Amino acid sequence: MTLQLLRRAVTTEQDLFAVRHQVRQLAARLGLGGQDQIRLAVALSEVSRRLLGELPAVVVDFSLVPPGQDTGERPMLMVQTSAEGIVDDEFVEAVGVTRGLMDWWDVDRSPTGVVISMARMLPANAVVPTEAEIATIRAEVTPLMAGTPIEELAEHNRQLLSTLEVVQAHRDELLRLNSELEETNQGVMALYTELSGELEATNRGVVALYAELDQRTDQARAANEAKSRFLANVSHELRAPVTAIVGLVRLIRDPRSDPLTPEQNDELELIDSSAHSLLQLVNELLDLAKAESGKLEPNLESVRLADIFATLSGTLRAVPRSAGTVLVVSPPRVPELITDPIFLTQILRNLITNGLKFTPAGEVRLAAEYDEDREQVRLTVSDTGIGIPPDEQERVFEEFHQVRQQFRATVTGTGLGLPYARQLVRILGGSITLASEPGRGSTFTVSLPVRGPGTATPDIEGPTGPLGTVDA
Ligand code: ADP
Repeated sequence: MTLQLLRRAVTTEQDLFAVRHQVRQLAARLGLGGQDQIRLAVALSEVSRRLLGELPAVVVDFSLVPPGQDTGERPMLMVQTSAEGIVDDEFVEAVGVTRGLMDWWDVDRSPTGVVISMARMLPANAVVPTEAEIATIRAEVTPLMAGTPIEELAEHNRQLLSTLEVVQAHRDELLRLNSELEETNQGVMALYTELSGELEATNRGVVALYAELDQRTDQARAANEAKSRFLANVSHELRAPVTAIVGLVRLIRDPRSDPLTPEQNDELELIDSSAHSLLQLVNELLDLAKAESGKLEPNLESVRLADIFATLSGTLRAVPRSAGTVLVVSPPRVPELITDPIFLTQILRNLITNGLKFTPAGEVRLAAEYDEDREQVRLTVSDTGIGIPPDEQERVFEEFHQVRQQFRATVTGTGLGLPYARQLVRILGGSITLASEPGRGSTFTVSLPVRGPGTATPDIEGPTGPLGTVDA
């Protein structure tokens, strides 16, 4: 609720000086600082002086407005000047210059009179006076009259000077800030130029790097193609003479041919086995070269894994293995899948043969499971053999790579089985992963899409297990 502080009629120049004086005193007593007091005094005397110029009598009301919706969250010292009579728009515009000095300003015109209200907010730390304190303030300020016009002018001058000082201080501060800002701007510009230069240099470097990378990739691709061509050509050229040697040996050893001495027989035996090894190598090289060249097309058909498993357990019975090693084929409980049965048989045969080769005593197991979510069949060939050290697990898929180990001496091989298996798996649209631990065994997992190549859901996690896995 608004608290009435003072009311005073203004009719003469002397009254004008008096209200000026009073508003300053009131403001000071309510905790407003020097600059605020001057603002109020200037605004009030300007509005009152103009009103007096137009209308015969002006009344000034001083009041304390508590915090409220219209006025803000702090109490305000409100000054209302009212007069009977009519003022025009030009007048309102002229007194409007005082608006900028106030926190709140309003003009209310009616057919009978005009009220101009102006208010300044009390400082945040100001304590709102009690009724009793207000009575004291009122008693002190009411009798205050302005001094003589000369004294009032001197006071006016003092205020002006102090205002000028404040303005000067503000100007100096502004100038300082401006020059600081300019310096900062220059610094920022310099930094920007430097960074732009660096960025440009980095960009150039990255572009050059990419160009080199592209070139290297092209070179690598060309080299790989040349390698595949070379392998294919050499193997092709080798196959004919080696086949001829094998044929000739068979002819010489034919019982219908001339009898041979025991030494000759032994020597021929040696030639025959060497030629067979060579022929196997040449054939594997040819297979791999063909798979790598992309010329190997799968013949897709609906395949029952149970049939493939049965064939494998039949044919692999003849594969040499240690006496203590068994091959276990778990019956597959998976749906039919669209794939190339010959390729799939080759892949599994390779993996099982390896398992048997590298398991001196224990078990090699072939199993399959269906991953319904990914529409994949996962085939696993696991053994309890010698295992593969972690740093070799990727390399075993490289051509000719064989793990160096003691056990090596007793087994044969070309180092082409796994790279070929991986190529075939890729042609069938699947992936092959390896999990292995030296001394505990290895598990090769082949994941194939049930609906054929090109329909696989990406296998994000890959098979997991107690052993480390390598995706090949
Ligand atoms: P290889 O004809 O030598 O078997 P592969 O490409 O099939 O050629 O295998 C490469 C090498 O990977 C093998 O020589 C062997 O060192 C290692 N390896 C493959 N399978 C196994 C396995 N099941 N257990 C241990 N080592 C294996």
